[in-house]
Amino acid sequence: MLSDQNLNVNKAMPYDYVFIGMGASNGLMLLEFIKRGYHQTKRIAVIESQHKNTNDKTYCFWSSPNDTIVQDLSSIISHQYQFVQTNTNKVQSIQDQPYYCIKSIDFYNLLHATIASHPIDKFDGQVAYLNPLPDCIEIVFEQQVITGTIVFDSRPPVFTKELHNQSYLLQSFFGYHIRLQDSKLNVDTFQMMNFDVDQSNYTQFVYNLPYASNECLVELTRFGVDTIDIDYAKKILDEKIKAQFGAYEIVAEEEGCIPMTVLKQQASIDKRIINMGARANLIKPTTGYGFKKMHAFAAAFENPAQAPITKARFLFYDHLLLIILIRWPNLGKKIFTALFQNNTIQRIFTFLDEKSGVSEEVKIFASLPIIPFLKACVIYLTSYIKKSYLFTVGCMLAYFLLNLVSPNVAAWFGYTCLIAGLLVVGIPHGAVDHLLLTSKKFNLLKFVVQYLLIIAAYFMVWQWFPVFSLLLFIAYSAFHFGESEMVEMQVSMHSFAQKAYAFALGLSILLLIIFLHLNESILVLNNMQGVSDFVATLNLFQYKNIVIAVSGVLLMPLWWISKKTCLFLVGILLLGTQMPLMLAFGLYFVGSHSVNAWGHIAGKLKIAPKKLYLESLPFNVGALLIFLLFFYLQQTNPQLIQSYAAVFFVFLACVSLPHIILMHLFYKKEN
Ligand SMILES: Cc1cc2nc3c(=O)[nH]c(=O)nc-3n(C[C@H](O)[C@H](O)[C@H](O)COP(=O)(O)OP(=O)(O)OC[C@H]3O[C@@H](n4cnc5c(N)ncnc54)[C@H](O)[C@@H]3O)c2cc1C
Repeated sequence: MLSDQNLNVNKAMPYDYVFIGMGASNGLMLLEFIKRGYHQTKRIAVIESQHKNTNDKTYCFWSSPNDTIVQDLSSIISHQYQFVQTNTNKVQSIQDQPYYCIKSIDFYNLLHATIASHPIDKFDGQVAYLNPLPDCIEIVFEQQVITGTIVFDSRPPVFTKELHNQSYLLQSFFGYHIRLQDSKLNVDTFQMMNFDVDQSNYTQFVYNLPYASNECLVELTRFGVDTIDIDYAKKILDEKIKAQFGAYEIVAEEEGCIPMTVLKQQASIDKRIINMGARANLIKPTTGYGFKKMHAFAAAFENPAQAPITKARFLFYDHLLLIILIRWPNLGKKIFTALFQNNTIQRIFTFLDEKSGVSEEVKIFASLPIIPFLKACVIYLTSYIKKSYLFTVGCMLAYFLLNLVSPNVAAWFGYTCLIAGLLVVGIPHGAVDHLLLTSKKFNLLKFVVQYLLIIAAYFMVWQWFPVFSLLLFIAYSAFHFGESEMVEMQVSMHSFAQKAYAFALGLSILLLIIFLHLNESILVLNNMQGVSDFVATLNLFQYKNIVIAVSGVLLMPLWWISKKTCLFLVGILLLGTQMPLMLAFGLYFVGSHSVNAWGHIAGKLKIAPKKLYLESLPFNVGALLIFLLFFYLQQTNPQLIQSYAAVFFVFLACVSLPHIILMHLFYKKEN
């Protein structure tokens, strides 16, 4: 970071709106602002790192002629096509949704003129970083600082690729704007995705956009993990153009590359910083189209409910196609050929706009080679859906099947799975607490002594104040479970409301497990010395339905935060109702909480899971010994703690207190 002395800090009032970048998304938003007259009352600034004076791309989209995007941008739409030829199929009419093209230079010139003719401050420079302050956001660029109340950030996203790439490849292209000797082109018709071209073990196709009867843009596009080589593209284009049109001259060249991925750039934690364009995940992973969505996003600025959102099932379809294109790139031609051969262009446009219904989507998938999609589904399920989810749900389903045959075998199987899970991840995730502290003064012996003292002290407190200890255990466990779920869903824990929801989420999970097994829970509680009288006075059964209903409601926001997490949690809680309490709780504890926390620790400390497991071994063994000690105490002094289940919970309570404190500090520090 630069120190304040080196920076030219503009101490004026913060701008109401600051646009970082003036490309497609922010340009469309700025035009929307001008349309709405915001410039008359608001202070607006733009920071752009480039001159934007070359025609570096062509923005194309299909749309109804009455749509606002066509109306808004009519002055710079350079071409529109009423007909399309997909692949080598016959020409189809698209008069209800023509294909429009805008040269980026025309768009940039419109933005330059708009900025020059309105009270908008323009800064040239590369934004280095943003610094959120309580009353404004500082934007630091090229030794300067300006401040803004709302910031539209269109800097390109930075993706962290997955370990085993399932969803990241590139759409790269190289095109010639050419002039033909003869006038052979139909200016009403463009050619989309013509696969009659060398594939070279990638998915490659040609676009052809006529500008005049003797002029067009011919573009070779590759979907692949590598970008297209320019010399190779020139050779292929030359052969293709000569074969199709004969002699030609080159007017201009165009090249580009768009990431194709379902990986997400996270929204900013600070709601005053709004991600835009590619950074807001508005580019469709499998097509690279995003301009129309960016316009819709800008148009919905005052009414976010109308902002375009990608439904989960479309993300799933995109994911399947990306898996196929990465693993079996030569299948791309076969799949797209079938798509265009067996479906009308209207159906395809609606599908790509993510506005189709499920029945239309079934028809589309039925028209495609099914085997690659089934294989992609298997890869998706086994790699994209977390293995722990599959393990947990798999154990539960196997338990139910075995239960039909023999309840004893089912119980044996269920507890074996639970113990295996506890040994593999449940206990180890709490046995690396010594790695969570990174202080230079760290002393392992002192750490272990302090850790054990907290456990022992809490154990004593359990003996003297069992009710208080129980309530405390439930409270901090609730926060801990909720906190790890929030971190897993990449929700920040900065505000009080977020912390409160983490607590509510964890509490609802715990209460659902307890109240959906109320008889067993009461049995366990009754076995804890000093707790049974308290439980008897409460008459928990009279609150059962209300607690379950309220807890269910508290889980609902999960649907909007992470559908996958919501489905998994609700699924295992519901399946758990048909299992004994210990299994229901244990499988949640192992399959969700411990696996998540293990992943957070390994990820943030950048330690390979195997090495982390080795690091956990001494404390793992230590935890097992303490556990055995409890059983020994139970044998030798039955008055102390009377049942195995009670032992299990008291043990968990004591061991988890220092762990929970350390994990909270770890999450807080690493956030
Ligand atoms: C060659 C090409 C062709 C495309 N064609 C189409 C198409 O036909 N149809 C379609 O729907 N989509 C198309 N896309 C996809 C997408 O619509 C465009 O990439 C679009 O430009 C993305 O908009 P954006 O605002 O996210 O990024 P950009 O348009 O790239 O704008 C970002 C701006 O931020 C500036 N910037 C970056 N970093 C900083 C910084 N640190 N400080 C200040 N300024 C910064 C950049 O200079 C740039 O001007 C195409 C993409 C490419 C690459």
